[in-house]
Amino acid sequence: MGTMNEKVAMVTGAAAGIGLASAEAFAKAGATVVLVDINEPKEQAGKLVSEGYKAVAYRCNVSDTQAVKEMIDWIVATYGRLDAALNNAGIQTPQRPMAEITDEEFDRTVAVDLKGVWNCMRYEIIQMLKQGGGAIVNTSSQGGVTGFPGQAAYIACKHAVIGLTRTAAIDYSAKGIRINAICPGVIRTPMAEELIRRNPDLEKELVRDIPAGRLGKPEEIANAVLWLCSPQASFVDGHALLVDGAFSIH
Ligand code: NAD
Repeated sequence: MGTMNEKVAMVTGAAAGIGLASAEAFAKAGATVVLVDINEPKEQAGKLVSEGYKAVAYRCNVSDTQAVKEMIDWIVATYGRLDAALNNAGIQTPQRPMAEITDEEFDRTVAVDLKGVWNCMRYEIIQMLKQGGGAIVNTSSQGGVTGFPGQAAYIACKHAVIGLTRTAAIDYSAKGIRINAICPGVIRTPMAEELIRRNPDLEKELVRDIPAGRLGKPEEIANAVLWLCSPQASFVDGHALLVDGAFSIH
């Protein structure tokens, strides 16, 4: 028995990192979880099923509006409802000052990090309106409230996700749909490992600036996501929750 018993949850970007940890947290709290990723997370969902949890993998590119619509239709046709969603799939731009980021890189980043969230939210909301409520969390970043060197396109999207979250929360609060954003600090995931691999001094430099003295763990974000989707957070709406070991306020 858990806080998500009998609930249906979906997580995008669930093949790795924060998305995978969040899918595991939803499953362990009793939900049926749909793990969504452009790299079909069959193994990850299979592992959860083998441990006795309810999980399924679904391949979807979140920037493809029609594919997202079909995915939500499939979830509703299969499970009858959608109670919680974490819109988390994201990519980073190559580390370069703004004027050196190409239009193609900008467009590609916006397509996943902003339009992907937009697409998912739209069809999640349409279903949640039909069933009379639900909870949505969008993954922004600590960089959604500050800047980060060499990541202008990515950071622009992460700021935009907070604006989108706040506005949609106002639009749908009275309809029983809560919409919040999570703002992770630097979390040890494949995305962060890749940044560190390209700049081996980065980890030391970052840790120096993180009052907690370490990078975060994907599970630490997952726990906050689970709470935001739970009845314990029933009056938390339109919030951008920093989970960053005090990095952004330092
Ligand atoms: P990750 O790269 O480890 O995982 C991201 C997942 O998203 C991958 O499995 C990838 O296949 C999937 N994905 C990428 N494009 C997709 C698409 N078009 N459609 C569907 N799936 C797609 O990254 P992570 O570190 O776990 O990041 C998850 C989210 O958290 C991202 O939105 C990221 O911007 C954000 N974030 C991460 C950190 C960090 O330090 N790791 C910090 C702040 C915010």
